[in-house]
Amino acid sequence: MANHDLYSLLETDASASNEDLKRNYRRLARQYHPDANPGDAEAEAKFKEISQAYEILSDPDRRSHYDRFGSDMNGQQGFDAGSAQDLFDMFFQGFGGGGGGARRAGPQPGPDAEVNLSITLHEAAFGVNHEITLTLPVGCATCEGRGAAPGSDVTRCGTCGGAGQVRRVRNSMLGQMVTTGPCDDCSGMGTKITSPCADCRGEGRKTEQKSITVKVPAGIEHGSALRMSNLGPAGMRGAPNGTLYVRILVEEDERFERHGDDLHHEATISFPQAVFGATIPVPTLEEDEALSVPAGSTHGTILRIRDKGVPHMRGRGRGDLYIHLALAVPTELDETAEKLLRDYAAARGDEIQESTQGFFNRRKTGKK
Ligand SMILES: [Zn+2]
Ligand SMILES: [Zn+2]
Repeated sequence: MANHDLYSLLETDASASNEDLKRNYRRLARQYHPDANPGDAEAEAKFKEISQAYEILSDPDRRSHYDRFGSDMNGQQGFDAGSAQDLFDMFFQGFGGGGGGARRAGPQPGPDAEVNLSITLHEAAFGVNHEITLTLPVGCATCEGRGAAPGSDVTRCGTCGGAGQVRRVRNSMLGQMVTTGPCDDCSGMGTKITSPCADCRGEGRKTEQKSITVKVPAGIEHGSALRMSNLGPAGMRGAPNGTLYVRILVEEDERFERHGDDLHHEATISFPQAVFGATIPVPTLEEDEALSVPAGSTHGTILRIRDKGVPHMRGRGRGDLYIHLALAVPTELDETAEKLLRDYAAARGDEIQESTQGFFNRRKTGKK
């Protein structure tokens, strides 16, 4: 503590009342508490500093010693385990109690797992039930997840009282800190078994194949994950299963491009169809539809077919299907068609190349 002014750590000065110190400490402790700043070592160090400053200044004897000599009377190792623990307890009560919230007594639940599931656009649009087979830890049937051989006992660990966790007091530069870690005696299980189950070697779980039916909802998007709680890898000795995330991969569809719940399809039309209009067949997610192309359409004209897109995942209704018209230029013409086209160009006065006879002939015979 020697390098810091204890009052400024608590954002006040030597005139502060006990109430001021307490109020500031609680405010700062909430701000820098490890639970509020997961993985932030700087916040954790700050939290320890302010806790220790408050520890000293909230004690009238130690405060007056500090006021007179500018140091704590016990030097840097200013705390006994009891008082540091009181601080933690007070703090956790301030947060609504329970002891920080993250800890769980006994064996740890299974980890989360993620698998990919590929489906077609049609399946994504209308939903599907897919059975997937996974190889993962599942509860051991022989010992029913207890880890103990059938007929043998499971007893509570005396060292940790069944919690699986023990508190340790360690000395650090900033004083004594209380940390919580797994109990060595029972490896964090909270229980002890004298005769481990032979099938799972006492784990209460073993790796097996498991089939799961995944209900894919209609309208799901590529890349979204379905959360299947309690269907992930089994925990140790009867602890809950982890969560299984099924990531949905929607295969490319050569007919449609999807944007949100709308679909886009490119349909080719000929020049006369663009000029005069036509009724052409276009694909939808269901059966083909007859689309009326109006006279005077051009390359790039977009026509909409309502409610033929992907059904909305939330709420009713569907997206739309957009047909993008593409003007096809013929690369093969028979003699009649070629003559008509040349006559058409002549009627319009279009300048065209005199003879492409060779070009069309080569295309027909397949030579380059
Ligand atoms: Zn077993
Ligand atoms: Zn234990």
